[in-house]
Amino acid sequence: MTYLFNNPANFADELIEGFVAAHRHQIQRVDGGVMRRQRAITGQVVVVIGGGSGHYPAFGGFVGLGLAHGAAMGNIFAAPSAQQICHVAQAVDAGGGILFCYGNYAGDVLNFNLAQERLRVQGIDVRTIVVTDDLASASVIEKHKRRGIAGTLPVFKAAAIAADAGKSLDEVFRIATEANERVCSLGVAFSGCTLPGANKPLFEVMNGKMEVGMGIHGEPGLYRIDSLTADGVAEMLVDKLLSEVPQAVSDVSGARVGVILNGLGAVKYEELFVVYRKIEQLLSARGLIIVEPVVDELITSFDMAGISLTLFWLNEELEQTWIAAADTPAFHRGVIADIAHLIGNDIEAKSAAEKLPVKPGAADSQAAAKIVLSAFEAAVDAINAQQEYLGRLDAIAGDGDHGFGMLRGLSAAVDAAKAALNAQAGAGTLLMVAGDAWSNRAGGTSGMLWGVILRNLGNALGDDARPNSATVAAGVASALQAVIDLGKAQPGDKTLVDVLYPFSTALNDGAAKGLSLAEAWTAAAEIAGQSAEATKNLIPKIGRARPHADKSIGHSDPGAVSMAMIIDAAGRIIRKHCD
Ligand code: ADP
Ligand code: MG
Repeated sequence: MTYLFNNPANFADELIEGFVAAHRHQIQRVDGGVMRRQRAITGQVVVVIGGGSGHYPAFGGFVGLGLAHGAAMGNIFAAPSAQQICHVAQAVDAGGGILFCYGNYAGDVLNFNLAQERLRVQGIDVRTIVVTDDLASASVIEKHKRRGIAGTLPVFKAAAIAADAGKSLDEVFRIATEANERVCSLGVAFSGCTLPGANKPLFEVMNGKMEVGMGIHGEPGLYRIDSLTADGVAEMLVDKLLSEVPQAVSDVSGARVGVILNGLGAVKYEELFVVYRKIEQLLSARGLIIVEPVVDELITSFDMAGISLTLFWLNEELEQTWIAAADTPAFHRGVIADIAHLIGNDIEAKSAAEKLPVKPGAADSQAAAKIVLSAFEAAVDAINAQQEYLGRLDAIAGDGDHGFGMLRGLSAAVDAAKAALNAQAGAGTLLMVAGDAWSNRAGGTSGMLWGVILRNLGNALGDDARPNSATVAAGVASALQAVIDLGKAQPGDKTLVDVLYPFSTALNDGAAKGLSLAEAWTAAAEIAGQSAEATKNLIPKIGRARPHADKSIGHSDPGAVSMAMIIDAAGRIIRKHCD
């Protein structure tokens, strides 16, 4: 239960504002997130982390000396947008290259990858480490598919210490890669979390039961068992983690490990200590040498009741990064000795580049832009009416934010479209501006993809002529191609591609037959609706829902359903205003 909030839609912005106000000596606000107060040394590598909000201290709390240089902070449980990530990266860039480091979630991967592409075009050297420590989310053979949880901290730390030591981007990348290979975590949960403004938990765990391996956004766990005692939980977590020792560790007895016992939100420190007492006994009994353990809240899931245990298998190099000093809002260790060179080196964050003025479109295109705005408004109404349903659909195998995220993105698109229309934008520019606003405000996987869809459609329509069935069909086809190129989903993978692909084909068929836009769109919208319904029978092969394929069967894909709703709403406007 969240007790204190104003308008839930502003919760993430307001928490970031207060967080920065409370830690001004260490961090400062930058468009898209936060960065260190002090400037990095010119020519050094910098480390940019990030993810959704609602997991404090991950991720903004890990920015500061001895840890990350900057963090992109998304909305509650939603990945930051590519624009946000770019802003943070540009603000902290010191000229020696940037390492992106974040937990493995589809939305984060898509947005960080897009940001990486954009920064590389600007000549900035960027590499990426995706942290994959959560044992529950895939088998060890598919470690690259695992999610990132509390094991993100040792990887961030390894990267940052290497970067601040002046190592090259290749070296920083190597050290962070090795850290990720040597870290493994597992969690249990006793109850779900309730997001600000929601009247029931995002997910529930039955009384007297615990869920093993549940994700930090409520992604379902491996299995449910009867609740254990504190010692019983400690034994289970230690057993499971010791069943997967990295190959590089030849002998468990005598091995040195960093240990993290993480509280997920509602569990008290006192409870953590009771569990840690047993963990220490068990690891010591197996001959492990514990180095600088951390018993704390590091990556939470709002008010979820649960804990996770992380083992970080050290070698000499990684041990140095693990024990190194750090001074951030949420993580302190030792004393940062060598800060003399940083004193007086505070920097003011640069603000993002001003938006380019909109160029007026031709009269025909401006008239079409008005219709596009009406279509967005109709889409907002349609999604608003089904927001709860979309969230529930997403919660079955994903994280439950789809309805909220779509509404947030669409509302931003409407605001931007209105402003563009006032500036006499044509239909193409209006769509592009709306797409940027959508992805920037919504974040997440679908926010990023809708941004790409609208950008491609806008680009194809341009600002010179009234769109017709042929130009719209070509624009939708290019949007489809861009979504497949970026997201790598194929038809049948149970994503919004399962609607966009048949919709695009039908629209192009209609246009080829010489149908009007209204006729072609109506026929294609019918197929989009049927295709969304048909995703019920598919098995998810990509995105957040993939680890819980079985739960998803029998339920449609949320992104596919919302896309069909938007297509349908747009169809009503097109029939009213176009031939
Ligand atoms: P998130 O997964 O970041 O929480 P949303 O809940 O807003 O994002 O959106 C989830 C939807 O995104 C899924 O239902 C699916 O339709 C779509 N999706 C996820 N991954 C991909 C992908 N790689 N390509 C295309 N669509 C995807
Ligand atoms: Mg989601």
